[in-house]
Amino acid sequence: KIKVRFAPSPTGPLHIGGARSALFNWLYARHHGGTFIVRIEDTDLERSSRESEDNILSALRWLGMDWDEGIEVGGANGPYRQTERLDIYRQYAKKLLEEGHAYYCYCSEEELAAEREELLARGELPRYLGRCRNISDRDRARFEAQGRKPVLRFRVPEGRTVTVHDRVRGEVSFETDGIGDFIIVKSDGIPTYNYAVVIDDFTMGVSHVIRAEEHLSNTPRQILIYNALGWQVPEFAHISLILGKDRSKMSKRHGATSIEQYQRMGYLPEAMVNFLALLGWSPGGEDEIFSLEDIKEQFSLDRVAKSPAVFDMEKLNWLNGHYIRQSSLERITELSIPFLRQGGYLEGDITGEKQEWLKMFVATVRNYLSSLSEINGHMEKFIAATVEPVDEEARDILGQERVADVLLTARDRINSAEKVDEDFVKTFLKSLGKELGLKGKQIFMPLRVALTGETHGPELYQVIPLLGREKTLSRLEHALD
Ligand code: GLU
Repeated sequence: KIKVRFAPSPTGPLHIGGARSALFNWLYARHHGGTFIVRIEDTDLERSSRESEDNILSALRWLGMDWDEGIEVGGANGPYRQTERLDIYRQYAKKLLEEGHAYYCYCSEEELAAEREELLARGELPRYLGRCRNISDRDRARFEAQGRKPVLRFRVPEGRTVTVHDRVRGEVSFETDGIGDFIIVKSDGIPTYNYAVVIDDFTMGVSHVIRAEEHLSNTPRQILIYNALGWQVPEFAHISLILGKDRSKMSKRHGATSIEQYQRMGYLPEAMVNFLALLGWSPGGEDEIFSLEDIKEQFSLDRVAKSPAVFDMEKLNWLNGHYIRQSSLERITELSIPFLRQGGYLEGDITGEKQEWLKMFVATVRNYLSSLSEINGHMEKFIAATVEPVDEEARDILGQERVADVLLTARDRINSAEKVDEDFVKTFLKSLGKELGLKGKQIFMPLRVALTGETHGPELYQVIPLLGREKTLSRLEHALD
């Protein structure tokens, strides 16, 4: 039975990397009809917050990932927040202690710092050298009397090789002699990540641990704990780092890092999911557009790449533009409203004519959007009473021969039109050419520049009805001045 989990530490919002880990787990579970768990790893008391937890959960939901077991939804193996599982960790810590796999360590910060210094000076990796491994009862009593609060350390077996059989990275071996006895329970009774994660994954019946590559070096420690408790080790799959286009580790410099930021900038969840899936996975072939359903059907760990994934903002923009154009006009209009309100371009109820106009506007400009927030820039262009040519090319067009004829005739026609709608514009553009003996381009280029300032853009039969009679006339007058 396949059971996977996403186990975020709620120390900040859901990031691209975390979202990708969550997605790969979700996909693996859904592809195989398994169970997807979401568990909160909040043992870093100082940095964890409910606010981050809420952010992570709502970002997961926004992306369309649901979970079968875990935080908020419950399940047979709860609670699903680590700070609520302290009794469980205590129970196994006791067992490890009693069986000699763990021991109390009374070393002070100063002693540990001195040891570190010494190892570094010798050119060795800092690690705990086991001073308290075989502590005498007398010393223990003395430390206790001094009021020292011990930590619990795992006794790492000497001279062994631990091999991780990783579904992505193959076999990766670690020498136990390079791993010092590590802390599993801190002096305040809070377990460390490496310990709690093992207890949770085992007691929750997790079959596959799919997570970021940065945890690969933690894996031998975790395997040693599984072994000490006589538990079967789950399968591991460590997915590659995400790099920026400059091949350095993905960071704020490369763009927004949290999912929430992308949501606020007007990226659609289906574009994000498509993009995230391609950060390390590909089904082979040239296709890059995949719905969550498609990916779910095709997903396999065998097609997860070993090499780092590259975060390509242009690709995300391209995907998002694709989904903006492809989605229903109603939905894109609805989703645009908050952006336009925020930009101060919309107020009050959006119904009736206002709504019809808005739909027409969205239909016209969505071809040019790579994110919904860009819609405000387009709206700005539509509401101004007049516009100026944006560049040299546009200015030249207005300077051509017979432009005044075109603009004046158009002005008169629009002025006397019964209704300025798409049909009217189509018919009048045709007859205008005949009447003035001009080719199509000689008609619509000057009109386009006069009305939008630009040489490219939406069709005039879209632009003119959107501007409406009054604004069309004022822009024509301005160009004629
Ligand atoms: N809480 C860990 C993190 O957010 C989870 C690592 C794991 O999946 O084991 O990085």
